[in-house]
Amino acid sequence: EGITVAELAKKLHREPAKLVKDLFMMGVPTNQNQSLGSDEVEIILAEYGVEAEQEVVVDPSDFDHYFEEAEASQDGLVSRPPVVTIMGHVDHGKTTLLDYLRKANVTEGEAGGITQHIGAYQVKSDDRLVTFLDTPGHAAFTTMRARGADVTDIVVIVVAADDGVMPQTVEAINHAKAAEVPIIVAVNKIDKPTANPQRVMQELSEYGLISEDWGGDTIFVEISAKFGQNVDELLEMILLVADVEEYQASSDRLALGSVIEARLDSSKGPIATLLVQHGTLHTGDSLVVGDTHGRVRVMADDSGRRIKTAGPSTPVEITGLQASPEAGDRFVVFEDEKTARAIGEERASRAQERRRQVTHHVTLDNLFETLQEGELKSVSVIIKADVQGSAEALSASLQKIEVEGVKVDIVHSAVGAINEADISLAQASGAIVVGFNVRPTPQAREQASQDGVDIRLHNVIYNAIDEIETAMKGLLDPEY
Ligand code: GDP
Repeated sequence: EGITVAELAKKLHREPAKLVKDLFMMGVPTNQNQSLGSDEVEIILAEYGVEAEQEVVVDPSDFDHYFEEAEASQDGLVSRPPVVTIMGHVDHGKTTLLDYLRKANVTEGEAGGITQHIGAYQVKSDDRLVTFLDTPGHAAFTTMRARGADVTDIVVIVVAADDGVMPQTVEAINHAKAAEVPIIVAVNKIDKPTANPQRVMQELSEYGLISEDWGGDTIFVEISAKFGQNVDELLEMILLVADVEEYQASSDRLALGSVIEARLDSSKGPIATLLVQHGTLHTGDSLVVGDTHGRVRVMADDSGRRIKTAGPSTPVEITGLQASPEAGDRFVVFEDEKTARAIGEERASRAQERRRQVTHHVTLDNLFETLQEGELKSVSVIIKADVQGSAEALSASLQKIEVEGVKVDIVHSAVGAINEADISLAQASGAIVVGFNVRPTPQAREQASQDGVDIRLHNVIYNAIDEIETAMKGLLDPEY
């Protein structure tokens, strides 16, 4: 009866060891040969976002299958530049590194020209390109992933050698691991007399990042982002990983990709930075971007030059959309304007419907009314997170919130999936359950809906905090 961990791992194309680890994180200790019950299988499927029964009907408004088809296709594959995101703890040198890379590697003709900030840029090393997303921070990375955009091939984690592994370093590691992308460690600020790269290596080994010098397989590069020392070597290492991973895409198909950034310009209208992931984007193309649509009117590259075509891994800024999309939205080019408009409008109306439903089901507000009636002066919260570091970070941040004397009371904080015990505790203590990078078990979900317990799921710490803080402001001013 049942399926073993190893068999399930095979079906999901995951490493058995990873599955064992993920199950453990969800509070289910197993080994690879152990049989899983259907409940556990369901949790894992939910966690990995896999539908137990594959949908057969193709919905033209659903972007997933365009991407799936492009990823599976072997037609006209060409090598493409790797797409790199830089992450790490605040002040460890992410911005300095991105600035150095950009300045040091602009091609001859552009030197001295105005460097545009469009959210991503390309750097040349030995005639090969590397694409960097230049919105540092895990929020951006994870928000994009949460919205469906999986654009990053390689994560560079910057750790200051004079400071060592800090909470956001751990968060970055976890985010990169969740995205299942190779990690390169840049040990930064080695110019400082207090720099201690050995300590960084030691500390990171506790998170499974073991340098090649120590028999592991993680690439470590010691750099000074400020003085540019070894930054070329870092680029070489990125290209080395790219050689191993062989990033490819087709260049001769209708373009597919993701939104890196978007804004509304008072004269030009919506402006979006798109990263082409498959195919080639042309000026004049009709496309649907997130829940909006339009035609590529003007297209510019990262140095502001007008271009007519853009292939895989190229970031471009475009105008011509009906409305401003959001970072992490995906785009799909269609053969004609009519199709793009029809699909764009369908997606817009579905999005509106979703928003209506969400506002209808808000229960955080109801809870506050209850609190107010009882004249309670605290908001009870139960935190469940995928890792201890996130649980602690979230707990610490929530406890700092104070709105007119009302504070947050952390009833319970632990690692693992939201289970029935959490729901019972929440009901007993009138608490909201906040899940960070975890989900409720099916039983817990069921019990929560019966008991009216509010479960809030987040994968960006800031959003979890902001949601509660906003609701607390509502608590104090019910008219608001
Ligand atoms: P971020 O928050 O990770 O983007 O960090 P920043 O790039 O803003 O850097 C934080 C501070 O560290 C700034 O004052 C930088 O000048 C400094 N810094 C960054 N890299 C280096 C480095 O390699 N050496 C030294 N000495 N300082 C650096």
